[in-house]
Amino acid sequence: MGAPEAFTATAEIGHFIGGRAVPSTSGRRQAVYNPATGAVARQVALASADEVNAAVAAAQAAFPAWADTPPLRRARVLNKFLQLLNEQRDTLAAMITAEHGKVFTDAQGEVTRGIEIVEFACGAPQLLKTDFTDQVGTGIDNWVLRQPLGVVAGITPFNFPVMVPMWMFPMAIATGNSFVLKPSERDPSPSLFIAELLKQAGLPDGVFNVVQGDKLAVDTLLTHPDVKAVSFVGSTPIAQYIYETGAKHGKRVQALGGAKNHMVVMPDADLEQSVDALIGAAYGSAGERCMAISVAVLVGDVADQIVPKLAERAKALKVKNGMELDAEMGPIVTPQALERIEGYIAHGVDEGAKLVVDGRGLKVPGHEQGFFTGGTLFDHVTPEMKIYKEEIFGPVLACVRVPDFASAVALVNAHEFGNGVACFTRDGHVAREFSRRIQVGMVGINVPIPVPMAWHGFGGWKKSLFGDMHAYGEEGVRFYTKQKSVMQRWPESTPKGAEFVMPTSK
Ligand code: NAD
Repeated sequence: MGAPEAFTATAEIGHFIGGRAVPSTSGRRQAVYNPATGAVARQVALASADEVNAAVAAAQAAFPAWADTPPLRRARVLNKFLQLLNEQRDTLAAMITAEHGKVFTDAQGEVTRGIEIVEFACGAPQLLKTDFTDQVGTGIDNWVLRQPLGVVAGITPFNFPVMVPMWMFPMAIATGNSFVLKPSERDPSPSLFIAELLKQAGLPDGVFNVVQGDKLAVDTLLTHPDVKAVSFVGSTPIAQYIYETGAKHGKRVQALGGAKNHMVVMPDADLEQSVDALIGAAYGSAGERCMAISVAVLVGDVADQIVPKLAERAKALKVKNGMELDAEMGPIVTPQALERIEGYIAHGVDEGAKLVVDGRGLKVPGHEQGFFTGGTLFDHVTPEMKIYKEEIFGPVLACVRVPDFASAVALVNAHEFGNGVACFTRDGHVAREFSRRIQVGMVGINVPIPVPMAWHGFGGWKKSLFGDMHAYGEEGVRFYTKQKSVMQRWPESTPKGAEFVMPTSK
């Protein structure tokens, strides 16, 4: 199957509602770039409230029959979808590179990590199996059902246009909900392709819908009485807004926010491995990952050894069009994001950090209009600096020097974000203490980007997550279902009279 027509040339990317691609009638649209060339590649529609309402209505109409479909049959649809995804992995990866800019092999990795959630969701019958207690009282049994919520919505960021939606909809659909996706307006194309694959896999019309759009579409979903739950991934201010507004309108909300992830390098760590890890985790995907390492916490005398090695590697990064197979880093997603990142670098210089490698103003031959910047490295960054406190979301690594392990832990724990963290050491006791004491949701020991596997669930702490359920894994099953407890007795026909005391086991 080739890419649908909507993905070619300068076409407008529209919606997918009730099982078919629907052109927008809102009259509002926004440019989508190819960040490597700087060209406007196509337009994306920005939905009106009526268009969002139509998507919710389609999902609401599809819900009762889908909720009643046995989980095994839902899982068969997801199995077929999984097969199609595997066949179309490279098509999806190329779409990601074309609109996001990340290098093609990284985009393939993104699709694979998304596919893993679909594999997990294929276990729907097992995931929905619940507890049963025989004989809680004489002749009485008690068991639990997990039932779907209804229409649920997903609002996703630009940096993982395939993987992050797949943290949500496979779990939501497997558990019997219908879904409305509002993808990022910066890289909208994969969402429609995914919708087509789900349809081909046999998903009934209306169970999965896509509305393209901006704040207007989001606000319509957040206040719509038929939307029962909202899953959000994006920046912290918007995550907080989504959480508060969704909750105010009676919805279940999980809202994953921004990050500032630290990697602590202990003096006993393998230096070469630590350098490799820092370079990959800081500059991979141009630092536009919520699990990117943006702070290296260098303990004791490790800084003087490691900073020159980092500088050498940062300068040598192969920054080019992500479709070139030897590219290590692609462009930044938009000119506005590039300007923001380079503005942070200027600010870091002004506030006194030592600029060891300056990536600003990089021109890639043949791609002079592309949104490129090189890898930037700062040393002697301190906790009160803006470049330490705020999420830059670009290829900028800040080195902070601390005297010992306790100061490293205190530094990480004092930060307002708590998404991911890593510690590189050869000391098992240090590693154990680190994982127990650190106030961060996802921890890597000699692993720089510890994104949990599909069955473990993903989520940060502090300002990196609003709500109490992580994405996917068992928490995902709980988020998308309501628990119902059933207490049942089939008495003999002899009446025993009313009981006026609290029922207890007899
Ligand atoms: P963003 O917050 O700008 O946008 C995310 C979504 O919210 C998009 O769909 C967008 O259309 C919508 N949105 C934007 N402004 C809005 C507003 N004012 N009202 C309502 N909706 C609005 O985020 P982004 O720039 O697309 O993505 C990058 C951010 O996402 C980074 O902060 C990154 O750390 C974070 N992120 C977090 C995780 C995680 O798991 N914690 C994962 C990926 C990305």
